Amino acid sequence: MKIHEYQARELLADSGVPVPSGSMVETVDDAVGETERLLGSGETLVVIKAQVHAGGRGKAGFVKLVRSVDEAREAAEFMLSNRMVSPQTPPEGLEVTRLLVAAGVDIESEFYLAITVDRANGTNTLIASAEGGVEIEKVAEETPELIIKEPLDPRLGLQPWQARKIAFAVGFKGKQVGQAVKTMLALSELFRSTDASLVEINPLIVTPADDQHPDGRVLAIDAKFNFDDNALFRQKAIAGLADPSEVDESERRAEEFDLSYVALDGNIGCLVNGAGLAMSTMDIIKLHGGEPANFLDVGGSATEEAVTEAFRIILSDDKVQGVLVNIFGGIMQCDTIANAIVSAAQAVGFEVPLVVRLEGTNVDAAREILNEAKSTLPTMHAASDLNDAARLVCSAVAVPG
Ligand code: GDP
Ligand code: MN
Repeated sequence: MKIHEYQARELLADSGVPVPSGSMVETVDDAVGETERLLGSGETLVVIKAQVHAGGRGKAGFVKLVRSVDEAREAAEFMLSNRMVSPQTPPEGLEVTRLLVAAGVDIESEFYLAITVDRANGTNTLIASAEGGVEIEKVAEETPELIIKEPLDPRLGLQPWQARKIAFAVGFKGKQVGQAVKTMLALSELFRSTDASLVEINPLIVTPADDQHPDGRVLAIDAKFNFDDNALFRQKAIAGLADPSEVDESERRAEEFDLSYVALDGNIGCLVNGAGLAMSTMDIIKLHGGEPANFLDVGGSATEEAVTEAFRIILSDDKVQGVLVNIFGGIMQCDTIANAIVSAAQAVGFEVPLVVRLEGTNVDAAREILNEAKSTLPTMHAASDLNDAARLVCSAVAVPG
């Protein structure tokens, strides 16, 4: 689960990380009003930022620095009436309905700081760089030596000595070191206590020196947090931060019916029971030269209604040119699936080829149900085994170019 920047900034601020003050608004007028308030309270610079679950906003023109209410109005109007397109969004971009209006700050230097689940290393890992900011992906690709990785102890998290080592290694100086260490330790504690899978501050900045802060101040001015969906049951406060409008409509419907659904880029819709079987179904489709359009595990105890909804979700995807049903009936009974196929045929209709491979509990009853409904399922092929099924469905759809 992802949250918005303005929510992540609140979590950081609550953990004692210095963050410029700001508020979330949903209209141009409120953006203008909030800018007026900030300018009136002594700020000279205000930043208006689109709140969407994707980065790359700066380069896309969806992070704007303003110094007057007129500039704020223009920026807010632009962001709320255009879709934001960046390398991190779908090609058609994302609609923007929320803005963050925050105090702007002068920047001396930008750092990158994150903790994430490092699957390759089998640890939670702190990642830091002195080359933070909007070019971090380029830095990672072209000069990976400028990115420091520090594996964390699974129980202890980030230790103070590690935080100090990293702070010096990325070049914090003087009073900045203590502030950076405090930020890193707070980030590590947030990562643990919220069951996060990613906590990222980019950029963590140092402001220019002034009389009160001869070494500048260390501030977080952008944050991105992801959380482990499987831990949300014990993270009620985090779960409450979810913004349903940012979640893919099909994935939201699947969740409602307790289906594990992930949209993919191919053209073969898959309906399978069990995550392991779903993975091997995707593998065997690829082996036969095809590309799965989705991962869909209906689980062991889905009702006919849920399975019918699963077909509805698969068939509502325009990319789907063929459907493969692969069921190994154990707790899930094959006749439940067969009944769902029949009711999906009645409700939405299979215009695309449908390849069905059923084995296991109640398979004979299932075959009978499908046989009787044959006339309503003109595009259906029964497969003798999984290999046959994959071959059939791959030859029935266009080879992805
Ligand atoms: P992202 O592009 O989606 O990651 O959005 P960010 O919030 O990271 O903003 C992108 C860039 O805009 C930052 O790296 C900064 O260089 C700049 N920026 C954002 N907020 C401020 C601010 O308050 N003051 C200044 N001077 N620059 C800012
Ligand atoms: Mn950023």
